Amino acid sequence: MKKYEQDGVLTLDDLVLPSDKQLEKGVAFIECVQEIPCNPCVDACPFGAISMKDINAPPIVDYDKCTACGQCVGICPGLAIFVIKVVDDKVLITLPYEFYPVPEVGDSVQALDRKGETVGVAVVRKIRKKNKTMIITIESSKNLAMEIRNIRVKK
Ligand code: SF4
Ligand code: SF4
Repeated sequence: MKKYEQDGVLTLDDLVLPSDKQLEKGVAFIECVQEIPCNPCVDACPFGAISMKDINAPPIVDYDKCTACGQCVGICPGLAIFVIKVVDDKVLITLPYEFYPVPEVGDSVQALDRKGETVGVAVVRKIRKKNKTMIITIESSKNLAMEIRNIRVKK
């Protein structure tokens, strides 16, 4: 049995990582590994960058086809899709957010890892809404690019 099947927390070893160059271009990073009958992410991508071997298979992102447009982020019912773009020594992470309070652009927020533990700080750069899901772009340190997967807002 894999570790995430016991504790529910994925590690980078469970995922297919983009290259440094692809991270600088910006890519969708999907943290969905279980075999479940779900595929709205495939249909959401206007560039055909997300595929599946079959409806039960985990999604695969073609990092070269992905334009980092973010259309897929708010579609996933599992909140499993992030867009990551490295710019110099910073990273922009676009993530789905369904909690209160809702932050405002310019707010400083706590950056959380996959376990929900605080790993640093981030600044909110952009907020959009897709259905009932907020799509929030934060900026933080480049070294946290593959760690930050949620935020905590203090109001
Ligand atoms: S970010 Fe845009 S181009 Fe990339 S996989 Fe998602 S929908 Fe497709
Ligand atoms: S929509 Fe989300 S949960 Fe469903 S297959 Fe795609 S990434 Fe996985």
